[in-house]
Amino acid sequence: MKIKDYELFTVPPRWLFLKVKTDQGVSGWGEPVIEGKAATVKTAVIEMMDTIIGNNPMEIEGIWNELYRAGFYRGGPILMSAIAGIDQALWDIKGKYYDAPIHDLLGGKARESIKVYSWVGGDRPQDVGDAALKLKNEGISAVKMNATEELQYIDSYGKIDEVLARVSSIREKCGKDFGVGIDFHGRAHKAMAKILARELEQFRPMFIEEPVLPENNEHLKDIAMHTSIPIATGERMYSRWQFKNLLHDGYADIIQPDLSHAGGITECKKIISMAEAYDVAAAPHCPLGPIALAACLQVDATCHNAVIQEQSLGIHYNKGNDILDYIEDPSVFEYKDGKVQIPDQPGLGIDVNEDYVRERSRAGHNWKNPVWKHEDGSIAEW
Ligand SMILES: [Mg+2]
Repeated sequence: MKIKDYELFTVPPRWLFLKVKTDQGVSGWGEPVIEGKAATVKTAVIEMMDTIIGNNPMEIEGIWNELYRAGFYRGGPILMSAIAGIDQALWDIKGKYYDAPIHDLLGGKARESIKVYSWVGGDRPQDVGDAALKLKNEGISAVKMNATEELQYIDSYGKIDEVLARVSSIREKCGKDFGVGIDFHGRAHKAMAKILARELEQFRPMFIEEPVLPENNEHLKDIAMHTSIPIATGERMYSRWQFKNLLHDGYADIIQPDLSHAGGITECKKIISMAEAYDVAAAPHCPLGPIALAACLQVDATCHNAVIQEQSLGIHYNKGNDILDYIEDPSVFEYKDGKVQIPDQPGLGIDVNEDYVRERSRAGHNWKNPVWKHEDGSIAEW
């Protein structure tokens, strides 16, 4: 079999889909995107795909190594997201060719289903208690929220109190056993992260996420000294070589590689299995589209340490176009008792609605994250 051709589709709300075609009529889908840089990743995908036309799509490890190692400069969000989407599409082709779900080809399922969580509160979190209760009534058992809005290096305790009030409102409405992940989103700097971590402990969250930016991961040790809340991070880390240092240091409890940013199924399976040896859990990052989510579930299925899956149904970014719109059978992503079943259909386990993809790609998107500023006019972390 040979890779013959490919197409790219920029679709709303903020995604990029890749269709890889073979000379035997089998094709596969991937989602190579970095939020806010879809066009840049698209260019990287074009550069990479043009070098592997004619390759055997079954040789995924060989192609992965060619895309990663044959480039003198490597890694980072753009190149690793491009590889990720290509890798997903190749796995989809392999699964369809063998009429098997990808998890079968990765060694087989270690679980039948996985817990999922939904987002509440949006970029500027508010009304999270009512939003969480609504989701709880729909059968969701865990949510994630942004902790804060802009936060200065040293900021007011009033802002800390606002965070506590919001988390408290979820506890009041949803009870003590409802899962709450609190995403610091890299908005906090070390000093405020320590205060937040200690003050949030009373609410027993599932985890705090990106308490500091990944480039400041050496501070996770300091933050871990102030709390027993599990520390999650990893959505802005892109390879085994970045995760090995995090795991070696020993202060992360949950890693969150993104199947569309960290080299795809091939790389994330290795990253998560490496974490298993450090007794660290995985919760793959996925505020993205249906192809990315399908890829996550295939890897979750085979990893003993995958504990919960992020998913974007109803997330604040997806207004107007959501994940179920782009697939033929939305029941694949049906959440029951807070969990989703691992799909057993061939390949990624979804049928992409290609007519709809083509129609929406005519609209496209130019999604960018907002630029936030502090009151003094300086740039704030978003
Ligand atoms: Mg996050």
